[in-house]
Amino acid sequence: MRPRKQDIMAEEKRDYYEVLGVDKNADDAALKKAYRVLAKKYHPDTNPGDKEAEAKFKEASEAYAVLSDPEKRRQYDQFGHAAFQDGAGGFGGYDFSHGFGDMSDLFGDLFGDLFSGGSRSFRRGGAATSGPMKGANVRTSVRISFDEAVKGCEKNLTLNLKEICPVCSGSRAKPGTAKETCKKCGGTGQVTYTQQSFFGMVRNVQDCPDCGGTGEIIREKCTNCRGEGYISERKTIAVSLPAGIDDGQIYRIAGKGEPGVNGGPRGDLLVEVIVARSNHFERDGMDVYTEEVISFPTAALGGPIVVRTVDGQVEYDVKPGTQSGTRVRLRGKGIPNVRNASQRGDHYIILTVKTPENLTQKQKEALNAYAEAMGENRTGKKKGLFNK
Ligand SMILES: [Zn+2]
Ligand SMILES: [Zn+2]
Repeated sequence: MRPRKQDIMAEEKRDYYEVLGVDKNADDAALKKAYRVLAKKYHPDTNPGDKEAEAKFKEASEAYAVLSDPEKRRQYDQFGHAAFQDGAGGFGGYDFSHGFGDMSDLFGDLFGDLFSGGSRSFRRGGAATSGPMKGANVRTSVRISFDEAVKGCEKNLTLNLKEICPVCSGSRAKPGTAKETCKKCGGTGQVTYTQQSFFGMVRNVQDCPDCGGTGEIIREKCTNCRGEGYISERKTIAVSLPAGIDDGQIYRIAGKGEPGVNGGPRGDLLVEVIVARSNHFERDGMDVYTEEVISFPTAALGGPIVVRTVDGQVEYDVKPGTQSGTRVRLRGKGIPNVRNASQRGDHYIILTVKTPENLTQKQKEALNAYAEAMGENRTGKKKGLFNK
């Protein structure tokens, strides 16, 4: 029931919109409707032993999990499937290694109690109900400057993290006291009942209400964690953000989330990066734009100007006869690729010609002389232009 990530990655992945049979602009209601139809058709309970149906069910569930989440949908629209692969930079918005476990919220939402019981016990992982499980992911955010995003930076994040209680080692009981087996569930942590649904009769498994799915009743709770098994600890985690990281991207730090259950690995820390705007540079992906104001003589005659790039100042030779609004590319002077710093975007200069204002008498005469040299009749003034 728990597909390995490699299995999913090895297959040729279909476009999520195509999987659900909706168009790119589909709203939440359309997504939900499309997914519901597919989930009902391919659900393992209605197709026992049918591997193809199971694969289709997983594919549809994965597509819906991503597209129904506005942030993940935005990432998918931008980067495609690459948005959710664990690349060199540690990126990835969605981790499917938990298989159906991660889908629990969706099922709860779509099918009510039908799946929520089972998936709730999966997620909470009471001691009696499951084996080792990865801990929950923790989300946080960090604000960095434009320059830090371009060059990469080291940041210390301080946050409260759930830790296994050191006094009871997560057992929840006061050290030295005995636990009792829950009588209601017989220590299994689960209670089973059947329910009529649109799939027919369904066996529904839920966490035992008496013991909360652990199979054990604790008479004397650990005082350090008040019987929770976990405590909250303030921790500082150093994060090294790669050069080229962009606003809104999620940086994943594996193994820094909540502790795993029953010896499972820790979850991940997902750090959303918020990049401040620059008052000089405009960023579009890996490319950078700046506006450079040049004088009329420089535009007409050409000449060198100094341009500030993310690497510092460079000289650019304006070509004679440059029109206002001309776009010039400085190749490789943009922002590094976040996955491969040896790849760089470009820097585009928009050249804007400034019309001179508040001219002195001498400057006006020079411009009039220029106009005359160009054969422009300025002495006739309005009469010459509008009257016959
Ligand atoms: Zn404790
Ligand atoms: Zn119980």
